[in-house]
Amino acid sequence: MPIIASCGHTLSESEGMGISLAIKGQSKDGSRCIRYIVACQKCATRYRSDGQVLETKQDEYNYINHN
Ligand SMILES: [Zn+2]
Repeated sequence: MPIIASCGHTLSESEGMGISLAIKGQSKDGSRCIRYIVACQKCATRYRSDGQVLETKQDEYNYINHN
């Protein structure tokens, strides 16, 4: 049974259940929020190189509280 990650890609066997990430998001009213997603290897690398990943709880806190 194929597993589809949040990014829309099918995960390969070596990727298992995918990579859990907290990424920068925006809610409908425009305020900052955190999106918890599961990405494939390729997209996880892309999110990281784009600076979209909140790696630690401190990163998450800083992102949410810096407006
Ligand atoms: Zn992907």
